[in-house]
Amino acid sequence: MENCAVVGVNWGDEGKGRMVDLLTEHYDIVVRYQGGGNAGHTVVNEKGKFALHLLPSGIFRDGVVNILGNGVALDPENLWREISELKAKGVAVTPENLKISERASLLMPWHRDLDALEEARLADKKYGSTKQGIAAFYADKYQKKTILAGELFYPDELYSHLADILEWKNLTLTGVYGAEPYTMDMLKEWVQTWCEQIKPFICDTVEYLHDAGEQGKSILFEAQLGALRDLDFGICPYTTSSNTLARYAPVGSGAVSAEINKIIGVVKAYSTCVGEGPFVCEMFGPEADRLREAGAEYGAKTGRPRRVGPLDLVATRYGAMLQDVDCIAVTKLDVLSYLEKIPVCTHYAVKGQKTDKFPFPALLAQAEPVITEVEGWNCDISAIRRWDDLPPQAKRYIEMIEAAVGRPVGYISVGPERDSIIIKD
Ligand code: GDP
Repeated sequence: MENCAVVGVNWGDEGKGRMVDLLTEHYDIVVRYQGGGNAGHTVVNEKGKFALHLLPSGIFRDGVVNILGNGVALDPENLWREISELKAKGVAVTPENLKISERASLLMPWHRDLDALEEARLADKKYGSTKQGIAAFYADKYQKKTILAGELFYPDELYSHLADILEWKNLTLTGVYGAEPYTMDMLKEWVQTWCEQIKPFICDTVEYLHDAGEQGKSILFEAQLGALRDLDFGICPYTTSSNTLARYAPVGSGAVSAEINKIIGVVKAYSTCVGEGPFVCEMFGPEADRLREAGAEYGAKTGRPRRVGPLDLVATRYGAMLQDVDCIAVTKLDVLSYLEKIPVCTHYAVKGQKTDKFPFPALLAQAEPVITEVEGWNCDISAIRRWDDLPPQAKRYIEMIEAAVGRPVGYISVGPERDSIIIKD
C-alpha cells in the first residue's frame, strides 16, 4: 500500500481537512507532522461539523490510527480540550486510535504569553500571530529549552528539568518584557491539570511507525497550513514557524524510513490569507465582501475574517513546485458559482516587469497582480459528482489551473460535505 501526503499549496485553509477526511478510508494511519493548534481543519461528515486544531483528521474513521508526530507543537491544554469536545460529541478518542510521540516537545504556558507580549511589542509591525505560542515554542525547541512529552513518565527528571528551564525563561519574561514570572507551583499545577490527561496517549511512535511500515500498513501524512507559510520558503517573516512541506513529513512524523508515494496538493479555487504580510492578489470592498461571504471565509481558530482574492496562479505554481505535488485537489469550486466573470491572477508586475515567478520575500510588497477575467459558469454546481457533468466553463477553469501549474487535477470539491467531490481521472 502506498503512502500519501495531503498538503497545502497556498497560504493555508485550502480545505486539507476535508481531503484527509475523504481519503482516510484508504489508509491505516494518519499523522500530523508539524505545526500546532494555531490553525484549524474544518471537517463535515456523518458525525457532525468539527473544527480540529491539533488532532489528525483521521480521528473520525474507525480502525484508523492517528499520530501526533515529534514535529508538532504539543499543547497539552488545548489538546485535552479538543479531545474532550470530540468525546462529548460521541467520537471515540482512545490510546488505540490516538498516539502521541514521546519525542514531541511540549508547548508551555509561557509560550502563549510570549507570543502575545511580542505581538504587543511589535504593535503596528506585528506578524499577525494567532497567539497560540507557536513561534515562541519552536524558538525554544531549537534552543533545546522545552520538555519532551515522554519526560512526563519520569517525574524526578521532569521537575529538575522544569526548574532549569523555569529559571532561564523567567529571565526573559521579567527582564525583556516586564511580565510576571512563573513559579514551580504553577508548573506543577499545569502538569497535573493538563499533562496527566494526555499521558495515556504518549508512546514510542517511531518504533510504532517502523513496525507498521514492515507490516505493509499505509500512512497518510497530514500537513497544517500551506507552502507559502513554510518557515524556509514562504513569505518570510509572515510564515509559520515550522516546515509545511511534504518532504518534511517523514522527519516530523517519525516515520523516518517511509517513502511518500503520492503528494496531493490542495488548492482553493480562489485565494485566502489570514493575518499580516503581503498578499499580492488581495481584493477589497464589496467585491471582496461578496467572495468572503460566499466562501464563509472566517478563521477556524480565531473567527478572524480572512483576506480574499482571485486564484493566484503565480503563487500556486510556486507552492505546487515546493510541495512537489503529483496531483492537485481544487476545493470550493462551488463558491465561484455566483460570478459571471471570474478574475484570475496570471502574473505579477514587479518594478514594472511582468513575471510569472514568485518574488523573493523582500520584493513581494512591491508586486502588483496582473488580472485576467475568464468566463464563469454562473449556476449551481454543488450537486454535480462527475467531471463530464460540469459546465464547460468550470472544466475550462480547472484545465487552466492544470496548464498554468503543470500538474494534473485529480479532485474537485463542490461542497463541504464528505461526498461533495468529483474525482477526475
Ligand atoms: P484546512 O485547514 O486546509 O483544512 O481548511 P479549513 O478547514 O480552514 O477551510 C476549509 C473550509 O471550507 C471548511 O469550512 C470546509 O468545511 C469548507 N469547504 C471545504 N471544501 C469545500 C467545498 O468544496 N465547498 C464549500 N462551499 N466549502 C468547502
